[in-house]
Amino acid sequence: MSFEGILGQPRAVHFLKHAVEADRVAHAYAFVGPSGVGRRLTALAFAQRLLCPEGRGCGSCSSCRRVIALSHPDLHLIQPTPPPDNPKGGVAIRIAEARALVHGAGLYPLEGAWKVFILDDAERMTLETVNALLKTLEEPPPRTILVLILGHVRLLPATVLSRCQVVRFRPLADELVIDLLTGRANLAEETARVLARVAQGRIGLALTAATDGWLEDRDRLITQLLEGRVDEIFALAEEVGRDRARVERLVELCWFWFRDLLILKGGGGPGLLMNGDRADSLSAQAHLLSLEAIASRLDQVKAVWAGLQGNVSPRLSLEVALTHLAMSEAA
Ligand SMILES: [Zn+2]
Repeated sequence: MSFEGILGQPRAVHFLKHAVEADRVAHAYAFVGPSGVGRRLTALAFAQRLLCPEGRGCGSCSSCRRVIALSHPDLHLIQPTPPPDNPKGGVAIRIAEARALVHGAGLYPLEGAWKVFILDDAERMTLETVNALLKTLEEPPPRTILVLILGHVRLLPATVLSRCQVVRFRPLADELVIDLLTGRANLAEETARVLARVAQGRIGLALTAATDGWLEDRDRLITQLLEGRVDEIFALAEEVGRDRARVERLVELCWFWFRDLLILKGGGGPGLLMNGDRADSLSAQAHLLSLEAIASRLDQVKAVWAGLQGNVSPRLSLEVALTHLAMSEAA
């Protein structure tokens, strides 16, 4: 990996390369954009470029390889973690991390010309953390570079952001995501197209979905929605049990399905469908359901989603959703 390996972010890469070449590297950057589009990879490629003894981020020297392995002594990747006494609690970048950063920033680099601190999901900094970092941002020690990775500029106080050079990251074009999925991940084009549509330019998300059972879950779910077999519904609900993330995924898939039906019913073309590879099944179902019936099912999905965000058990949520959505199909 190096700058050459970053796909779909030519402006960000050009900007950073130029900063290094012109010897005008800022002390702090904010990499802003959706997750899964290469913000962190770009931060690592930037660190490679800064720390490489060859001065070009060759990607193959010991320094470059240790940057990617996160074992370079002048590179520090800081990520949100749960509270030390509660592994299931909400994640944050806490004050202890900020103190370590402030201390480290005051030291000389150990090997390279710079010390690079990458704060991933910087929007997860607590207020205490932000306050502890402000002084370092205001009066940055020499040879220190901070890269804050975040989803949106509004997620950090203006006092922080005003001291950072903002670099924007954009979702990748669908065609590029499809190319990567068919080339690197070896998927059939039809499948790649479905994942690209769902991921909306976030290649990281598409690659994860390609390997973590997303497609299998989708196919099972569609079968349920079309056939509504009660025994299968309960078997699936039992299988997912308390796995909230997986139930959320299945409920989201329900949403995509009825959204597609709504589009077809409204006269939209197959190019707009999330489940473009199942256009035949969708058309058949769109003929059977009225516009009102589809809208009411979308409302039901929304209600199940809201319950899931509250205290309703994941398993029960899924049973309720599938029983209503699938069985009422037959009615
Ligand atoms: Zn190198």
